[in-house]
This record gives sequence, C-alpha cells and structure tokens, in this order.
Amino acid sequence: MVSSFYADIVRTNTVMVEWQSSILESTGSYVSAESVAISLLKKFSEKQLPKASDLEWLVSEQDAPQALLPLPDSYPISPDDGENSDLFRTTKRPRIRGNLEWAPPRAQIIFNIQPYRKRNVILAKQNDRCAGCGMKVEPGYVKRFRYCEYLGKYFCQCCHTNSLCYIPGRILQKWDFTRYAVSNFSRDLLTKLFDNPLFNLEDVNPGLYRKVGSLTGVRDLRTQLHHLGNLLRICKSANRLYEDIQRLPSHWTDESQLYSVADLLKVKSGEMQHILRDVFGRASGHVTSCEFCHGMGFICEFCNNAKDVIFPYQLNKVTLCDGCRACYHKTCFVPEKCPKCARLEARRQRLLMVTPSPEHEPSRQNNDNIKPILSEGDS
Ligand code: ZN
Ligand code: ZN
Ligand code: ZN
Ligand code: ZN
Repeated sequence: MVSSFYADIVRTNTVMVEWQSSILESTGSYVSAESVAISLLKKFSEKQLPKASDLEWLVSEQDAPQALLPLPDSYPISPDDGENSDLFRTTKRPRIRGNLEWAPPRAQIIFNIQPYRKRNVILAKQNDRCAGCGMKVEPGYVKRFRYCEYLGKYFCQCCHTNSLCYIPGRILQKWDFTRYAVSNFSRDLLTKLFDNPLFNLEDVNPGLYRKVGSLTGVRDLRTQLHHLGNLLRICKSANRLYEDIQRLPSHWTDESQLYSVADLLKVKSGEMQHILRDVFGRASGHVTSCEFCHGMGFICEFCNNAKDVIFPYQLNKVTLCDGCRACYHKTCFVPEKCPKCARLEARRQRLLMVTPSPEHEPSRQNNDNIKPILSEGDS
C-alpha cells in the first residue's frame, strides 16, 4: 500500500519534472505561476491565446491578499529559564515543555523491575536534571534527589513527595506486594491504572503460575465460570445466577489471564478465590439439577457413554478440542482423531468440490459431473 503510494508520488514527480523541463525549453525563462498557466493552455489548445491580463482569475488579490504564513504561537522553553522568563514577554503564549537536555516523563506501562544502577549513573543519564520538572541539580544537592521505583529515575523534592505505591513489575516478576516510594507523576499514573486489567499473566510472566499456586486455581475458576455463563445465559430458570456472573468484572470470566493490580491484590488476599468459588458452587449446582441445562451437555463421542453427560466447565475430567471446541473425556480424547473435526473436514472437502474457485472455474462438463453429489448433499 505504502510502496504503491510512494511509487505514485515518484511517478507524479517524474511527470512534473518532464513537464517543467518542456516549459523551460519553450519559455527559456524562470518558471512563474503565470508562465506555467500559459504553457499549460498552449499544451492543450492550438487556438490563439488570450493575454494573461485578460484572463479572469478565480480569486482576486483583493479577495485574498497574499501574506507570509503566520509564525507558530508557542516556543520551547528551557526549565532553566524559570518563572521570570515570562517577564520578558509582553504577551502570554503557551509554552512547550522540554528541550534537548530534558523532556517531561511520559505515561507508560512498565512490566519489569528497574535494574539497579548507581545514583550518579542514573543522574548523569538524566543530564543531572529532575526527571519531572527538568530542574538542574547542584553538585552539593545530589543526595536530596529522590528515586522513583516505577520509572527508575531521580526527581526533585517537589516532584517526589515519597508517596508509596504498588509496583506492577515487582508484583508480576516477584509476587512482591511491598509499596515503594514513587514520584508524584508515577503515583498519579499508577492510581489511574490501578483497576485497569492491563496485565496478561501468560504473556508477561507465565512462570508466576508455578510460583504462586493460588493463581492456577483462580485461572481455572475463571475459565469454568466463563463456560457456565454460556450455559446459564440460555437457561430461563437461571436468570438470577447468570446476573451474579454478569456482576463480576467482565474480564474475570472473558479473559481468564487478565489482571489489574487490584485483581492481583485480591488474589494475594484470597478475596478473588472466595468470590469465584461462591458463584461457581451455586452455578454448577444448578446445572447438575436443571433438566434444561443437563440437555445442553455433551456425550463423549469416543466412548459414547450416554450415562455420563459432560460439560466444558468440568476442567478436571473434560477436554475441549482446539479445532472445533467439542467436549470429550480427557482420558478418551485423541487430538488428531477428533470425530467432529473429521466430519467438518469431510464437509469442507465436499463444498470445495461443488463450489468452483474463481481462478480455476471448471468446465461445463465438470459441473454436470458434480450435480449428483449436490442432490445427495447431507448438509
Ligand atoms: Zn522536579
Ligand atoms: Zn438450567
Ligand atoms: Zn469418553
Ligand atoms: Zn475437533
């Protein structure tokens, strides 16, 4: 897309260059707007050309007087200029923060723990300026600068007032729920992010499941409630229970790996497990005693045991085929031999035979040959 667009520009430019050089040849003079217009007219008409002064222009100079483009209203200002810099200006114009030596911190989600580095190494990287406001630190006052555990940078005492926060990276990497001192910028950001389910444990640190047993239990309960929700949604006598599931934060049941910092704290305290177990107990109890829900269960197609109706939420004894999501006993299931996948594949093959692809349209004779299969069709 981009390359073809670029090629178009190049092509257009080439045409422009060729065209301009032909004008230069014909006029032998500097290409002004007027001469371009006249040469254009010359190119397209063999008739007698009117004088430029006789042409009626679309917008007159009177309607749109030409002037230089206005200069930008704002200008970069160094933190060293301080408050008084405005005294030298007669008008109050917006100021852009930052210069070549310093830029204000950006809101970013950090999944890792900041590596340990010495104070003077970090400050040198910051050009000896506060990461928050850009104030230059005097050599005697280096010790007064405060470290922000979230951003891994040093801040002045105005920009860092020793607020304590949970650090997502510390929790995700080390299951460390200590609150660390952070800059005011990080404090505001982390407060805003606190309830946002931003962290996918499987992506960020799957090793955490091995380290923290309760996380595996929580993930399973959330998956089970997802399957139970699908079932209870269509059962008329389970409205209340379905509402209970709906009342949980939607990512708890829809994305079993997603966590906010608040969620991780709830796992640490056991609160999430408590809530999930309560809803799960009632929901699974309903399914086993409800005739309608029972009718929505599966019969394992490997053993065909009709007496044992199985459900996708029974994670301990049931497995879902990755290909078709059908439900089988864990002990019976053979991944490459899923009966439903085989049926789907057979049907796909039949459809391929009857639906001609646009590139290889079969001849009329071929179409006639396929006709009997169509009429047999067991869609
Ligand atoms: Zn500062
Ligand atoms: Zn039911
Ligand atoms: Zn089975
Ligand atoms: Zn399958």
